[in-house]
Amino acid sequence: MKATVFKEHGSVDKLVYTNFADPEISPSEVLVKVKACGINHLDIWVREGLPGVTLPLPHILGCEIAGEIAGIGSEIKVKGLSIGQRVLIAPGISCGKCEFCLSSNDSLCHEFRIMGFQVNGGYAEYAKAPAENIIPVSDKLSFEEWAAVPLVFLTAWNMLKTRGNLTTGETVLIHAAGSGIGSAAIQIARLSGAAVITTVGSDKKLEQARELGADLVINHSKEDFADKVNEFTDGKGVDLVFEHIGPDTWEKSMLCLKRGGRIVTCGATSGQTVSLDIRFLFAKQLSISGCYMGSRSELLKVLRLIESGKLKPVVDSVYPLKDALIAQTKMLDRKQFGKIVLVP
Ligand SMILES: [Zn+2]
Repeated sequence: MKATVFKEHGSVDKLVYTNFADPEISPSEVLVKVKACGINHLDIWVREGLPGVTLPLPHILGCEIAGEIAGIGSEIKVKGLSIGQRVLIAPGISCGKCEFCLSSNDSLCHEFRIMGFQVNGGYAEYAKAPAENIIPVSDKLSFEEWAAVPLVFLTAWNMLKTRGNLTTGETVLIHAAGSGIGSAAIQIARLSGAAVITTVGSDKKLEQARELGADLVINHSKEDFADKVNEFTDGKGVDLVFEHIGPDTWEKSMLCLKRGGRIVTCGATSGQTVSLDIRFLFAKQLSISGCYMGSRSELLKVLRLIESGKLKPVVDSVYPLKDALIAQTKMLDRKQFGKIVLVP
């Protein structure tokens, strides 16, 4: 099959479009003909290399996969799967037996792995996954749209609803409306009845963010987002901050919180170390929660809301798989609004 791989860690030019052996499925796995694969910041971190993580190389990235079933393992107990069926691959693989898996906290499983990270992913014509990760989807959405769903909507749901406890009448600050996760989070927050403040890096994205339902959109390249949040909330601050940027925004994000406010974080696009004045944390009685993707049961909830049209994936652009390098460069330059998707 054709695949875009990297043979050594490094910059975007390490991505190579090449021939690669077809995945061979075990009796408990399903083979999926990839129709579309969303790109994600995780792809960039994995390509660059993460401390303490050794991957067999060459490696195939891609955690957000939509396609058709092309092969079914001989011992699969999951019912209702058939060749040619439209499916998503749930991006998180876990043991299914431990205390975390049994309590719907599978992303805490010691064996937790993510498609395209610890195992080969969807920058290819075919991908394989355990049968438990194969989720049938309707034809209401295109494959490109489905590929803009799995990891970003799941993580946004976990951050806002499960860990963030966002409820009606609250106000949330969501960074980077134009990112895949930002565009998902704005919709989930609106659906929860919260007021949404969001940021963008260019005037071009202001209107797109408003169309998703944001009440206040701040161009952070021109205005200080903490000042604007302060103004919008009459000096009270927000109930919840949705963080996925890191040091570039962290300290000001903390300043945006009201007394007793919460901050959830899942990403480190601008770096991995932040500073924190613990006196500020305890005096204002703030809560910080880390989120790492989410559970299969949360993903199923999100998919129901997408099937019913209450949430809508935002696709910025679609590139052929051979142009993964161009697609990742666009993401690094923050030129997109929504998800960039690859098609084989
Ligand atoms: Zn487990």
